Amino acid sequence: MSLYRLIYSSQGIPSLQSQDLKDILESSQRNNPANGITGLLCYSKPAFLQVLEGECEQVNETYHRIVQDERHHSPQIIECVPIRRRNFEVWSMQAITVNDLSTEQVRTLVLKYSGFTTLRPNAMDPEHGLSFLLDIAKIYELSDNFFLDL
Ligand code: FAD
Repeated sequence: MSLYRLIYSSQGIPSLQSQDLKDILESSQRNNPANGITGLLCYSKPAFLQVLEGECEQVNETYHRIVQDERHHSPQIIECVPIRRRNFEVWSMQAITVNDLSTEQVRTLVLKYSGFTTLRPNAMDPEHGLSFLLDIAKIYELSDNFFLDL
């Protein structure tokens, strides 16, 4: 068994609607369990930041399917590494929008890991990308509300 973690960023198309996010989440939650994929998808207009965890082959296949999706473009791999264990094992995929950076906690997190006041995943190094995703997961796990509205 060779577990991998892949983190990438991409840019959502300008016409992206909240229904698109809901559709993406629905497909992910339908497909990922069958492929043993877990992870988290974070959206902050226009950027996506996603972590995929699973078997090397499945992560690879899922990533290559995702990058062909016309709802986003300019994918950039931040990290693709073997891991000993998963960090997001409770989610086949969960989506979080941090568009309005509505809570002070989220604003502080963005500043902490990106050095900017808006989320710019492609400016994050692998360590900061993962730490940001883990911290934001903690906040939203507690709130039980995943704010899928844009
Ligand atoms: P369906 O789920 O049946 O497709 C559902 C609907 O989505 C279609 O009717 C269509 O309206 C729309 N759609 C599907 N594919 C496209 C496309 N390429 N372009 C525009 N609209 C489309 N999929 C996963 O399985 N796991 C993931 O973790 C995952 N993460 C994603 C992250 C991002 C940022 C994006 C943009 C997409 C992600 N997807 C993910 C979706 C993935 O790109 C494929 O669309 C999906 O896997 C196709 O699943 P399906 O064959 O079951 O199609």
